Amino acid sequence: MKDYVIRGASKNGELRFFCAITTDIVEKARQIHECSPVSIAALGRLLTAGTMMGMMLKSINDKLTLQINGKGPSGSIVVVADSGGNVKGYISNPNVDLFIKDNGKLDVGKAVGTDGVLTVIKDLGLKEPYMGQIPIESGEIAEDLTSYFAISEQIPTAVALGVFVEPEGCVSASGGFIVQVMPDASDESIATIESNIKNIESITKLITMGNSPENIIEKVFGTMEVEIYEDLQIDYICDCSEEKIDRVLISLGKDELESMVEEQGQAEITCHFCNRKYCYSKAQLQDILQKSL
Ligand code: ZN
Repeated sequence: MKDYVIRGASKNGELRFFCAITTDIVEKARQIHECSPVSIAALGRLLTAGTMMGMMLKSINDKLTLQINGKGPSGSIVVVADSGGNVKGYISNPNVDLFIKDNGKLDVGKAVGTDGVLTVIKDLGLKEPYMGQIPIESGEIAEDLTSYFAISEQIPTAVALGVFVEPEGCVSASGGFIVQVMPDASDESIATIESNIKNIESITKLITMGNSPENIIEKVFGTMEVEIYEDLQIDYICDCSEEKIDRVLISLGKDELESMVEEQGQAEITCHFCNRKYCYSKAQLQDILQKSL
């Protein structure tokens, strides 16, 4: 099954939802960054949230950035997504040692830490990007996003994210869902969805059993009828290019570039998101120095 995300709402319009399967994306991220199990569980959860929150953006050029850093051993985790199904990310420390919780699960909360903030940046093509920031609750990521939606966007939201890592280290199931309560929702609908979500099996178990995003949403909504508005193919895509790296170099300014030319005589720049290396000779650096003047 290829990775994709769906969005829709309950037929009565009181609840809206997003649901994604991201197994291939997260396995690709694991291979690019050579992540340990707990590091890919953390990065994978944020990538999965990125695919669904990317779908919340209105226009094709809008961009979403999610950042979480709780001063735990994972360091900072960054995910960038757009509304067209492209997502990419990185984790400062891809080699966090395994933390296992008492229930046998990977301890993402401990890897991320709780002494810091979750930041959501939406670049909507306006002069200033929108930025929402909340203190980290648990570092488990889904709970932190729930509190982001409650505090920054004032939307009661349930977020489920899961990444299953096999004993040999590869990702065999990853995905999640987001359910949001609309302002006119009845207490009855809210109570039904809350109880369904509480009783549902884990997202990774549902994916391992072969359920599609549509099947998962059917289980989450139970007796409530739903309507699917859109499905979207998603992939781990990095859009870095020589032109973009040139611009980064130019933005360093004249002094920095001059010392690069004189002291190092060359430069090698690695893209954080895909690890592609860009090499600059002395002549190329001089050329960029000219452009920066
Ligand atoms: Zn790249």
